[in-house]
Amino acid sequence: MYFNPMYFVFALPALLLAMIAQARVRSAVNKYSRVRTLRGVSGAQVARALLDSAGLQDVAVEKTGGLLSDHYDPISRTLRLSTAVFETPSIAAVGIAAHESGHALQHADHYLPLQARSAIVPAVQFGSWLGPIVFFLGLLLNVEALAWVGVILFAGVAAFALVTLPVEFDASRRAKQLLQQYGFVTGEEAVGVNRVLDAAALTYVAGLAQALSTLLYYVFLLTGFRRRD
Ligand SMILES: [Zn+2]
Repeated sequence: MYFNPMYFVFALPALLLAMIAQARVRSAVNKYSRVRTLRGVSGAQVARALLDSAGLQDVAVEKTGGLLSDHYDPISRTLRLSTAVFETPSIAAVGIAAHESGHALQHADHYLPLQARSAIVPAVQFGSWLGPIVFFLGLLLNVEALAWVGVILFAGVAAFALVTLPVEFDASRRAKQLLQQYGFVTGEEAVGVNRVLDAAALTYVAGLAQALSTLLYYVFLLTGFRRRD
């Protein structure tokens, strides 16, 4: 009963951006995971070398299952690389491995946006499912203040998506710079690394657009709700 066709007006542009970003990641990874670097060093070896050069010998590099499941775990201080990234000496693999190493370097540097993002994770996990429930309950019960509480709870999701941008952009900036500095990629190969990492960055921009458009839709429903009284 609360479905409003205006939802599409709010959600569609961000959804399209997300689809474009996903397609770009897929095509860039597909293309550059088949191109071997001149140095012929695997993602795992690149990660190990970059971590060691930053004095992070105690950060482990492990192989993990799944596709594009690569991540840095700040709790166990472990860098987990998907099998293809771990084993392959491709342009995509070294780019992704260097990006994840960038997160470990941020952690060691106490990089502020990373700390902020970790700090709001519990609130976001809570708000992402409770926010919409409280919001629609507020509409259902005709209690506007309750619906606004739902909006505020969900706003944490947008805040998380916002603070994710500097974290991801900085990890890729570090990756590009370090790969060139240590000669893991040539100038020509760096073009491929940029294609992969920039496509991945766009998915985070799309994530922010999706969170913001949902938030705006909630506010739109609420302000319309007030006019009906
Ligand atoms: Zn990242």
